[in-house]
Amino acid sequence: MIRFASACQAIAAAAGTNEKVRLLAEYLTTLGDADLVAATRFFTGNPFAARDRRTLSVGVKSILRAARRVWDFDEAKLSAAYRTFGDLGAAVGSLAGAPRTPTLFVDRLAPATLDALFGDIADAAGKNASKRREAGLERIFRACEEPLAATYVIKIVTGDLRIGLREGFVLDAIARAFDAPPAAIRRGLMACGDAGEVALAAKHATLDDLRVLYGTPIGFMLASPIAYGESYEALGGETWIVEDKYDGIRAQAHVTGGEARLFSRRLNDVTRSYPEIAAALARSPNAIYDGEIVAMVDGRVQPFRRLQARLQRKTVDDDLVAGVPLAYVIFDLLALGEDLLIDEPLVRRRERLAQTIQSNATLVLAPFDRIEVVVAADVNGRFETARARGNEGLMIKRADSPYAPGRRGKWWYKLKRELTTLDVVVIAVEWGHGRRAKVLSDLTFAVRDGGRLLAIGKAYSGLTDAEIESLTQWFLAHRLPADQRRPKARASEIPVEPSIVLEVAFDVVAESDLHESGFALRFPRIVRIRDDKPPEEIDTLERVREIYREMLEREG
Ligand code: AMP
Repeated sequence: MIRFASACQAIAAAAGTNEKVRLLAEYLTTLGDADLVAATRFFTGNPFAARDRRTLSVGVKSILRAARRVWDFDEAKLSAAYRTFGDLGAAVGSLAGAPRTPTLFVDRLAPATLDALFGDIADAAGKNASKRREAGLERIFRACEEPLAATYVIKIVTGDLRIGLREGFVLDAIARAFDAPPAAIRRGLMACGDAGEVALAAKHATLDDLRVLYGTPIGFMLASPIAYGESYEALGGETWIVEDKYDGIRAQAHVTGGEARLFSRRLNDVTRSYPEIAAALARSPNAIYDGEIVAMVDGRVQPFRRLQARLQRKTVDDDLVAGVPLAYVIFDLLALGEDLLIDEPLVRRRERLAQTIQSNATLVLAPFDRIEVVVAADVNGRFETARARGNEGLMIKRADSPYAPGRRGKWWYKLKRELTTLDVVVIAVEWGHGRRAKVLSDLTFAVRDGGRLLAIGKAYSGLTDAEIESLTQWFLAHRLPADQRRPKARASEIPVEPSIVLEVAFDVVAESDLHESGFALRFPRIVRIRDDKPPEEIDTLERVREIYREMLEREG
């Protein structure tokens, strides 16, 4: 492990991604097969492969107890070291010396042996499981040749190497190390869900043999919001597939050998919550589908609230199944048999989908249209029709788009009316950029929590030039002293009297430590200035928590 740890050190110290990737590639080429598989996984920041559902289940306390049995340092020293490094691995590493009771027989710790020892820890179950997990850790620590190895072992255990390498860079390094096409590497990872296996296949030039791994969810492709309007410039010059946006629960279905499993947007297995859908899918050929689970009566999608009774149910009885009839509206095909289709253009995937499955009461192929030339009036007309059918709006997807797992980009757009908005108050402002350099156009806004105002986001768009101009005058006249800045303010923020109330629309709420509220809004847009509302009546942190909870529920 010392070589692994030294490689990590060198990568952490390297300036620039290119150099980091080069160093990692160089290290990977020096490894034997088993170490290559394990080390590559560790570089993605995890003890196990992405597809592997096992976890180590050891907390900080266990790590420390095991470490102290090996190295015997006192708590005060550890706290001081932790304050210095801000990282448990580095802190323990700085205190680790020779083990206080040397052991005669230890494994030489290499990535592959560490992988095996991690396996023992993850497999520990039953009454003494946590003791056994701790003993496993102790054994690993004793086998660390040098403190630096312990540092990186702990970093892997806690799930963060902190060497500035994202998964994408690890994949680039594999490509570079073994002279393999990056696209084939990415595809291989999608297929098998294990960066270690992909590295090995790249080394032996067998990437084409990696097969679709059923039962391991693939990241969901996401859409960017697009505003309902009079022109759709973002859609110019391309061919699009337009379909309804269904208001339900996104689900990826894996069918193999007559058995179906369903995964939620958070990649949890939710098969048991939707037994009738799993049963209907079981008759399909081996395939991976993407779609939306909705409540449906006589072919008509029901409002989302009808689904609520079925959300996150562990057990579902017949009454519940009969009470809320569900359908799975399928809009994508990610794999068919042994073929991974995510690199095929969407139109082709839709064709194959139509050849694979026929609509019935429970499985519904999402109808779609192909649009060669985008005319705003036509898009808006389709939007209204989708709404009249009880759906949320439209999805507009590029006909030639691949399925880009986990990505939100310019391939898929969603067009819906803002359903959730928050009323917030502006607490600070900043000068804009470019055309807006002379106006205070960047607004930081807050929600209320009792008597406090807590920042939750910044908005840059949605107001007219005239509105921004007159607000700028008002802000300049109502500045507050700099010492009234919020704790997390940027230096360029000017605090202002909390008086201007805005209604902001947004895409999703996310937990974030960027702002004092502990939340951040994605894609916030100002819908209007609410002159009619006093700042005392703006939305509360509790309301934000509610919206967040509901979103988590939907994502399963
Ligand atoms: P939103 O929940 O507003 O971020 O919108 C994105 C979500 O729309 C996706 O995660 C899906 O759950 C859902 N959705 C509904 N209909 C479709 C569709 N036809 N294609 C893709 N996603 C859809």
